[in-house]
Amino acid sequence: MSLNPASALVLFSGGQDSTTCLAWALSHYAHVETVGFDYGQRHHVEMDCRLQVLAQLRQQFPNWSPRLGEDHVLDLRVLGQLSDSALTDERAIAMAASGLPNTFVPGRNLLFLTFAATLAYRRGLKFLVGGMCETDYSGYPDCRDDTLKALQVALSLGMDERLVIETPLMWLDKAQTWTLADSLGGSALLELVTEHTHTCYLGERTQRHAWGYGCGHCPACELRAQGHARFLATR
Ligand code: ZN
Repeated sequence: MSLNPASALVLFSGGQDSTTCLAWALSHYAHVETVGFDYGQRHHVEMDCRLQVLAQLRQQFPNWSPRLGEDHVLDLRVLGQLSDSALTDERAIAMAASGLPNTFVPGRNLLFLTFAATLAYRRGLKFLVGGMCETDYSGYPDCRDDTLKALQVALSLGMDERLVIETPLMWLDKAQTWTLADSLGGSALLELVTEHTHTCYLGERTQRHAWGYGCGHCPACELRAQGHARFLATR
């Protein structure tokens, strides 16, 4: 078995970050597949948005659509049994004593990447692309660059294949993520990200802001709105 060096699997949630990563992958690899995780999210809106984003990418980007291959959804509802999180039950989002928000599912990204690596191996895809980032979410230890480099070594050893984890957003802030989307796909991609991606923790999609849909008050909306404002200011 050898993995195709021109191919990638993108961890794709339907949010702004993973959509930007998908666009990045489509401009770097000849064949790109996507994987999403259904872990009993409190709001199914994310799963709906990811299908919308894929459909829009296929329609609006003729250079990318031939590269965009199969979409996979893995059932990881077992995470609901392991976590005590505001994402999967009805408790409010708050900061815990550890300094991490209670939406944090310990080690979640390690699990996601390990499942993605198993899928990538089976599909012959060499690169795993994820939107993990140290800049805005430095509290998440499983998103840190060192964690992911260590995991890349473990996965490559454990599968006896050189799998590579790419994290194009690792050192970008939210304003720079908008800038990256602009440089990859111009105003059409910015419009797609604004209109079809979902970030809000509360699953709110009735209020449309300049930066997209969301409640405007949760930590995810605040980050997205502030990043968008800084992006517009530096444009
Ligand atoms: Zn929100």
